[in-house]
Amino acid sequence: MDVIEQLAELRRAVAAAPRPLVLVPTMGALHAGHLALLARAREIAGPAGTVAATIFVNPTQFDRPQDLDGYPRSLDRDLQACRSAGANLVFTPSSDSMYPPGHSTLVRETSLSTRLCGATRPGHFDGVCTIVLKLFNLITPSHAIFGEKDFQQLAIIRRLVRDLDLKVEIVAHPTVREPDGLALSSRNVRLSPQQRADAPRIRQALLAAAKLAADGETDPAPILATARVHLEASPLLKIDYLELVDSESLQPIDTLDRPATLATAVFYHDTRLIDHVSLKR
Ligand code: AMP
Repeated sequence: MDVIEQLAELRRAVAAAPRPLVLVPTMGALHAGHLALLARAREIAGPAGTVAATIFVNPTQFDRPQDLDGYPRSLDRDLQACRSAGANLVFTPSSDSMYPPGHSTLVRETSLSTRLCGATRPGHFDGVCTIVLKLFNLITPSHAIFGEKDFQQLAIIRRLVRDLDLKVEIVAHPTVREPDGLALSSRNVRLSPQQRADAPRIRQALLAAAKLAADGETDPAPILATARVHLEASPLLKIDYLELVDSESLQPIDTLDRPATLATAVFYHDTRLIDHVSLKR
């Protein structure tokens, strides 16, 4: 497995890499969710193709300095995990090489990015779109794998690819969860034992609301209220947002007459967790 920090070396490795070349972009602190993406990447690449991972805590997508400073970093362990998962190439650039002094270009998706996480984390998706486009340009993957856990990010990246005619196939991978339902996240390690014990309520709240919809409720109000009551029963968390949106446009809906997603972000003190559920009738 090649571990590459420099852009020139990356370009050489990419030029020589057997294709298909399947990319898994990450911010490190790898967990079983990331490993599932790497396993999927190997399936798509086949034994002779290339699986490339990137590990880069992208500063431009952080809206809170304390979140960036406190973001878990475990490079040695991550590299070992990538090796075990059969990655061929891992790109671990420095911030300066991705954003040289004086950089002044950002990529902005202007519709989907204004909702949900984009509304409460200004500029977050500009940072995501910018780094993802840079990684696509540098690595020229045939496929790139993203987790459904970050469903808004996935929708925005699909839009980016469509709108800018990028030659990469985006592959979505289902959310990997703890046995108690909590979505795996690099940020989970920042939860106190008490917060960790409480956190499965996020999923439970979404599922309780989804059940109402499955039972035929079409009015968003009781669906949202059900989830809110479950979440607010905890003195440990604060709701950042809880919204019921059209799964395509991410706009709020006033009746459940099309594919919809119930999405939430909550804070346990400084630690922000997201989850969502698709509503089926
Ligand atoms: P991150 O390192 O958090 O930026 O995530 C890198 C990639 O892993 C993104 O495509 C995420 O959506 C995906 N990912 C993170 N957590 C999970 C999970 N629990 N299940 C599936 N994919 C995940």
